[in-house]
Amino acid sequence: MPSEAQDLPRRGRDRPALQATLAAWFPAAQGGLSPIPGGMAAARQRLAALDPIAYGRSRNHLDGAVTGLSPYIRHGVLTLAQVRDAVFAWLRERGYASPERQAEAQRLAGKLINELGWRDYWQRLWRQLGDGIWHDLEPLRTGHPAEAYAPELPPDIAAGRTGLACIDAFAADLTATGWLHNHARMWLASYVVHWRRVRWQAGARWFLQHLLDGDPASNNLSWQWVASSFSSKPYIFNRANLERYAGDRHCRTCPLASGGCPFQASYESLQQRLFRPEPGGHHPVAPALASLEQGRWQVSPTPSGPHPPSPALTRPIVWVHGEALGPANPALRAWPGAPALFVFDDDLIASAGLSLKRLVFLQECLEELPVTVRRGKVAEQLLAFAAEHGADGVVTSTAVDPRFSWIRNAMAERLPVLVLEPDPFVSLKAAPDLRRFSRYWRRAEPLVWRHFG
Ligand SMILES: Cc1cc2nc3c(=O)[nH]c(=O)nc-3n(C[C@H](O)[C@H](O)[C@H](O)COP(=O)(O)OP(=O)(O)OC[C@H]3O[C@@H](n4cnc5c(N)ncnc54)[C@H](O)[C@@H]3O)c2cc1C
Repeated sequence: MPSEAQDLPRRGRDRPALQATLAAWFPAAQGGLSPIPGGMAAARQRLAALDPIAYGRSRNHLDGAVTGLSPYIRHGVLTLAQVRDAVFAWLRERGYASPERQAEAQRLAGKLINELGWRDYWQRLWRQLGDGIWHDLEPLRTGHPAEAYAPELPPDIAAGRTGLACIDAFAADLTATGWLHNHARMWLASYVVHWRRVRWQAGARWFLQHLLDGDPASNNLSWQWVASSFSSKPYIFNRANLERYAGDRHCRTCPLASGGCPFQASYESLQQRLFRPEPGGHHPVAPALASLEQGRWQVSPTPSGPHPPSPALTRPIVWVHGEALGPANPALRAWPGAPALFVFDDDLIASAGLSLKRLVFLQECLEELPVTVRRGKVAEQLLAFAAEHGADGVVTSTAVDPRFSWIRNAMAERLPVLVLEPDPFVSLKAAPDLRRFSRYWRRAEPLVWRHFG
């Protein structure tokens, strides 16, 4: 008999009750509720508001027509393939599928498809690099040695008390809502790494605590792009850039706006102020990155192990994990009546310091699925659940996070595990060159657009 006592009770749409239940389960999790709700119903509303053409025109502006889909995509409430298809359906409905308008469609809506490609690209890199994404992929191009960067995030940044209205507003939005516009993420990350000279990893950890879409791949690799350990130059901005895309909402209330704004300068003078000339102008390619070609990688790869033959299961349980919290989950689709379990991973939540709003978001997604929710050590909980149900194995779906493989391998010593693939964003026959997005996208883009028309 399943033990009811360990199961998280369902709270339906009563968000404060849900928050209280999760706060009791995870007393160390900080913060309140995000205004962004979890679940497929909320994701569908976002999809219905999609406008790929307005997106292409305005995505860099804080008020631009961005989709806000990232928390849902991150947790598999929607797959990238579903969003891709929604963009193409939107274009078809407006008559862009005719042969003579296809090029126009690609020009107008290509930016959104391209951004979905960025997510796919970061995921592919994570699969290759495993926890290697926590290390500099290349030496920094700032002229400063790694030791020049502070290892911890200064408390005034985390608390939103730097005195800079823009930076403090971004920090406040991050901690209150768990979501930031891409440009705000870039400005905030740039300030942390280049103006305050803090290691990107400290900023990345902070983001992952709070972002509802917190994803080590998109997050860490974007931080590396800003820092210059995975790009050709460090990313910086100035006040003119901020005001162009954010308007004057921050500067008009900023005490430093009329004297003392550290962003009020030309790019040339900021370069001189923030960076030192690189020695000899020569930049060695880090051995780690040099080995990243055609799908080969040698540093701490994801422990996938050899693939055992697919087990034939008759009474499995379904393991639902945090990358597949939607109806497209292939394990739930293949075994609709099987007992299904999600386990809040105590070790992960404690070590990453995940905020309460992220846990509430996850639970809201889970409440729409036919799934029991528990907490603890994931493999142990799954094996106990399987024993309660007399199961002969576990069915689940592929996840990119290396923790998934560790848990799967720990379970596979005791029970057969069948892993199903979600629908891919793009199928590439040979492993692409992942050393730069452009190389991956040259191969991927034409195949993605084959789904249109
Ligand atoms: C420092 C930094 C940290 C970031 N951390 C994360 C993170 O933890 N999780 C995360 O999902 N994204 C992260 N991003 C990427 C990007 O900022 C967000 O995906 C985007 O802002 C989410 O808002 P949206 O859904 O409205 O995106 P839209 O602009 O509407 O794009 C649609 C979808 O495309 C994908 N996408 C868009 N831009 C990017 C991008 N640059 N990289 C990867 N995927 C992208 C996302 O899945 C997004 O939901 C980070 C960017 C930076 C600069």
